[in-house]
Amino acid sequence: MSDPIGRPSWRDNDGVSALRQLSEALDAFAAAAPQRDAGDSPDARHGEAGIAELPLQNAAAHVRFARFWEERRSTYLARRLQRNCPICGTPPAATWFETQDGYRYVICAACRMVFIPEFLPPAAWDEYYAAIPDAREHLRRQLEASVSEEAGERDRDRFGRYLSALRDHGARLDGARLLDIGSFTGASLRVAADHGMVARGVEGLAEAVQFSRSRFPDLHLDHVVAERMTPELFGERFDVVTLWETLEHTVDPVRSLRLAAELMKPDAWMALTVPNARNVQFSVLREFCFFAYGGYHGIGHINMFSPESLRRALHTAGLEIVHLSTEFGTDWRQVVYYLQQSFDRIHCYRHLVTRGDTVEAPGPELDVVLNWLSPALTKVENACAAGPIIVALAQRRDAAGV
Ligand SMILES: [Zn+2]
Repeated sequence: MSDPIGRPSWRDNDGVSALRQLSEALDAFAAAAPQRDAGDSPDARHGEAGIAELPLQNAAAHVRFARFWEERRSTYLARRLQRNCPICGTPPAATWFETQDGYRYVICAACRMVFIPEFLPPAAWDEYYAAIPDAREHLRRQLEASVSEEAGERDRDRFGRYLSALRDHGARLDGARLLDIGSFTGASLRVAADHGMVARGVEGLAEAVQFSRSRFPDLHLDHVVAERMTPELFGERFDVVTLWETLEHTVDPVRSLRLAAELMKPDAWMALTVPNARNVQFSVLREFCFFAYGGYHGIGHINMFSPESLRRALHTAGLEIVHLSTEFGTDWRQVVYYLQQSFDRIHCYRHLVTRGDTVEAPGPELDVVLNWLSPALTKVENACAAGPIIVALAQRRDAAGV
C-alpha cells in the first residue's frame, strides 16, 4: 500500500474546487464582517443550547498511541484477517481510500456498506499491549481519564440524554434490567444505576475490565466480546440493551445484534450510537478525518454505518428502528482547511504523528465567520441526518409494530 502520510492531496473528490470558491467567499465575508472576538461570549462557538462539541479522548495519549503504532505497524498489519461485507457477505470491492494508520475502506458493491475488510482482531490487541509495556501504561492513563470527574460529568449528561429519549418513547426505566455491550470502564452502567436501572455490561478489552473491577467492585462487568455472548452466559433477558459506540468496532455486527436481540425480552428496547459515514468530515475529508481509522490503539472504526446501512443491519438481525437522529456537529474549521488545501493543519492521525497534539486556531477572520455560521450549519446537517453520531432506538420486529 502507498503511504498516505507522504503526499496529501484532494485526489479524486469531485466538486471540491467549487467548495473552495465558497470557502474563499467566506474568507472575504469574514474580512468584511463586524469583528467578534471568539472568547468574548460563552456561546460564541457553539451557539444555542443542544449543540455540543463532539467528545474527544485525551489528545496527548493519542499522540503516544500513534507514535507507538508507527514504530510497529508493519509487523502487526501483516497479521490482519480478512472479511466480506459485514451486512450482506459480498466480497470486498476496490479500495475507496486508505487510512493514515495503514488500512483501507471499501464501499460494498451490493449494499453500499462502508467497511474495512482487513482488520486486526481483538486478541491481537491484547497481545500488543502485553508486548509493549509503554503502550500499556498509556492505555492505563486513558482508562484513568475515563473515570475522571470531568468525564463523569460528560457521561451523566450524555447517557442521561439517551435514557430520557428511551423514556420519551415509552420505555420503563425504573427497576428495568439493562445490558450494555462494549462498556469500556462502565461509565454508562453507573449512569443507568443512577436512573434506577439494574445494569450489567460486557467489554472485549481485558485491561478495561480489570481496571473497572478494581475501581468499582460493585459494578457488574464481564470480559466478553460482542460476538461471543450467549443467553446461558447471563441466565436472564433484558428490558433494555445498549451499544454506545460499539458496533463500529465489531467484526460481525449483524451477529452481535442478533445475539443482543435474543437477550431482549419481547417488548424490550435497544439503544445505540455509531459514527456516521454520511457526515461530511468522513465522506469528504476521508483519510484526513480523525475518525477514519482502522486501529492504532485497539480495533478501529472497521464498520462505518450510514442511517440506511444501520437500518439494514438491524433489520437483518430481527430489529426495527423506531427512532433515528444524529447529533453533535462537524468541526467546520477542518473542512475549511481541507478546502484551502491546508492539509498540515487538519486534526487527523497524520497530525498526531508529525506535530503532536497542537491544535491550531484558524486565522482571526475565519474564526469570526465560523463562530457565526457553525451553529446554523450544524442544525442543517442534523436535520439531514448527517451529524457525526447516529443515535438509534430499536425494538424486536415482533414488538415494533412496523
Ligand atoms: Zn454489502
